[in-house]
Amino acid sequence: MSAPVPTRYGVDRTTLAAVVAGLGEPRYRADQVWAGLYGARTPLDRVTSLPRALRATLADALPEALDVATSVESADGATRKWLWRTRRDGTEVETVLMRHPTRATVCVSSQAGCAMGCTFCATGQAGLDRHLDPGEIVEQVVRAQHACPQRVTNVVFMGMGEPLANYEPVRAAVDRLHGDLGLSARQITVSTVGVVPGIRRLAAEPWPVTLAVSLHAPDDALRDTLVPLNRRYPIAEVLDAAAEFAATRGRRVTFEYAVIPGVNDRIDQAEALGRRLAAWPGRGGAHVNLIPLNPTAGFPGGTPSAGRVRTFATALARPGVTVTVRRNRGVDIDAACGQLRARAGGGGTPIAPPRGPRAAPGAPAATMGA
Ligand code: SF4
Repeated sequence: MSAPVPTRYGVDRTTLAAVVAGLGEPRYRADQVWAGLYGARTPLDRVTSLPRALRATLADALPEALDVATSVESADGATRKWLWRTRRDGTEVETVLMRHPTRATVCVSSQAGCAMGCTFCATGQAGLDRHLDPGEIVEQVVRAQHACPQRVTNVVFMGMGEPLANYEPVRAAVDRLHGDLGLSARQITVSTVGVVPGIRRLAAEPWPVTLAVSLHAPDDALRDTLVPLNRRYPIAEVLDAAAEFAATRGRRVTFEYAVIPGVNDRIDQAEALGRRLAAWPGRGGAHVNLIPLNPTAGFPGGTPSAGRVRTFATALARPGVTVTVRRNRGVDIDAACGQLRARAGGGGTPIAPPRGPRAAPGAPAATMGA
């Protein structure tokens, strides 16, 4: 089997230096390349400290990992989305850039598709193609930066895939986004649907990333139907792991809740969730981010009215839970996870959600993303 081709944002500084040396260039050239790609976050063909001929040679020696399949911008220009085709095997992944006056956030994919099978999610409906490698993840951020007039300040792992089911590559990508691209670890959010062993591993890492946990239901009976992983890691276990993370890292944890009309948006459900989270012992108390459902073709739920979301939020906050409502951005460009790819006809092989009884506490991690 031939060795994988090194990619522009897949190589570390040592490997980059070896590639540059292999081209017969002096050592300082590697420093110039690194400073251009990561320090200035400039595309290689615009690193003007390098001779034009060397830029062209390097572009061949270190190709990008992603080609643009589609790129769309919202009418207000604040949200841009890419559907990439990987050069490795042509699989498709999505990235979203969201600009605010004071920050710019890139939402990255950690996998092509997802095996978690959440029923309301366009990516989950399509199944898993494969894990992304660290270079493919880092390149999503860098390429979004190239299209962004302000400095990218935040990265959220909320695109396609369950990041904690692709732990090592995601870990390596976070390491490089923080160490090489200079993003604050606190501005990097890893969002999980509840991979309990992964949450515990993340708590032990050297950098204090932010953790977001997707709940979507106040009880296990409903969550089993929306988030199949709940059969392995029920809510109580997920909340325990999140509390451990908050205690170990000294960070507040955000709980995500997609509000789905007629499914999980009743007032009694808000009250039940509120009671549960008011008793959650994590640092800073529970903070819930409500996400009005972004409808997908494969799920019958629609978008909740703003009034309904407000009423739900009020009931949820009453026992002392902090509640925010996410403004859905880029609805006009299918900006929710997996939608652009689904519309383009992409998607992996559907994978059946896990069946059977819940694993006992302490059972091995799910290998759903493997
Ligand atoms: S919501 Fe997240 S974890 Fe669930 S299927 Fe979609 S991408 Fe996967």
